[in-house]
Formats: sequence, C-alpha cells, structure tokens
Amino acid sequence: MKKILLIIPLIFATSAFSKLNIIVSIQPEVEFVQKIGGDKIDVSLMVEAGASPHTYEPKPSQMRDISRASLYLAIGVEFEKSWLDRFKNQNINLKIIDISKNIEKIDNNPHIWTSPTNIKVIALNIFKALSSSDSNHTKYYRENLEKFLKEVNQTDTQIEEILKDIPKNSIFMDFHPAWGYFAKEYGLKELSIEVNGREPKPRELIEIIKKAKKERVKAIFTQPEFSDKSAQIIANTLHIKVIKISPLAKNWNENLINLAKAIANRELK
Ligand SMILES: [Zn+2]
Repeated sequence: MKKILLIIPLIFATSAFSKLNIIVSIQPEVEFVQKIGGDKIDVSLMVEAGASPHTYEPKPSQMRDISRASLYLAIGVEFEKSWLDRFKNQNINLKIIDISKNIEKIDNNPHIWTSPTNIKVIALNIFKALSSSDSNHTKYYRENLEKFLKEVNQTDTQIEEILKDIPKNSIFMDFHPAWGYFAKEYGLKELSIEVNGREPKPRELIEIIKKAKKERVKAIFTQPEFSDKSAQIIANTLHIKVIKISPLAKNWNENLINLAKAIANRELK
C-alpha cells in the first residue's frame, strides 16, 4: 500500500519537470519569454519589483531555483556580471544564453528593452534559445514569435502616432538614464540627472538646473527603484512635474505607450 502512494507523486513530479525551467533577470523578460514559450515553459524572475538590476543580490531561495533550472536568459544588466559565474557554479548543467546578442549598444547603457526594434531582436534570441533547448516544440515557438513580432510592430506604430507632432530632437529629462534606447528610436533626446550612477553633487545639480531651464524641460521622469530627491529639487526650482514610470514595469507595451503620451503632452521645445 505504501509503495503505491509513493509512486504517484513521482509521476506528477516528472511531468512537471518536462516543461523548460527558465530563469530571467528582469520583469520585462518574463513577458517576452512567456509570449514565445507559452505553456511549454516555466519562467521565474531574479530582480523582484522595486529592486535595481544594477545592484541586485539573489536570495538563498533564488539560488535553490538556479540549481533546478535548465536555462538562464541573461540580458546584460549589471548584477549579472558578478552573479552568472556563481549561478554556473551552483548548477553546472545550467545553460546561460545572452539575449542581448546582435543589439547595437549605447555605451555602458544596459536598458536595451525600452525600444521596439531591440525587443524584436530580443524576441528572436529567445526563440533561438528555446528551440535549441527544446527542439520538439520549435514550430510552436516560431508561431508564437511571429504573433509577438506583430504585436511589437503594432505598439511601435501606436507610439509613432502619439509622437507624430513632437519635433525631432526634442528633449525629455529623467533621473536614471533608462530611456536612451527609446529616445534613439524615436528621434528624441534624453537628459539624465544621475551622474555616473549616483545623485549629483550640489554643484552638478546647479549645472543640470541651468541646462533643464535652457532646454525648457517641462517634466522629469523618475522611477520607483531610485530616490527622486534631486529630481524633486529640480522640479521645485523650475516649477515642473515629476512623473514616476519604471522601465521594469510588467506590461512593456502599455508602459512604452504611457511614456510616449507623457512626452507628447508636454510642449517640448
Ligand atoms: Zn538601470
């Protein structure tokens, strides 16, 4: 009797493991991977909501997840530099694939997922990673990829429509330089407050305020992952708005559309 009871959970355990077990670094990757992997994969997230991928330290429970995973999809964010080797030590069978491959990087700027063009390259890289790890479902993954690429194109068209009356090279301001790829894609300019990854010193802040005034910046974007102290000082000095929006938000398309709307509603120079 006891033997039979033991066998049943084992069967369940085996069928659960037949899904491809994937770990990703940041929230937007979760959605990209789910779009392409559908019900053939399980995906878990490393950098949790509110945390920064520049300084993240995985929890012990996440290291245990690493030992059970078969695939890690790295996207080039900062904490990966010090942790990917440790993940590999934790699980020598873990396949680590860089899905930022073939993306033209802006120097030292890892926020590649804020542009639809880059998202399409990321999606193709995810498709390749999934089908090489699980070739039985290549056809399924390819169909999902094609659907997703259409969705990305639709979002891109929507953003272009929202920004159509904004003059080329218009400037928007943010605290952390998270929207540089978005700016590049839509012919805008990003003016960031952060200096080499830290809050500006008082003297630097004065220079930034002068520049923001000269460029007639109408609002500043900040994100919940970082302090908005200096953004508030600038905003109070220039009597402009602070708008909170995170590049790590769950709904990547809604998020990019919201950013475009916020930019379009401000009469930029
Ligand atoms: Zn960042």
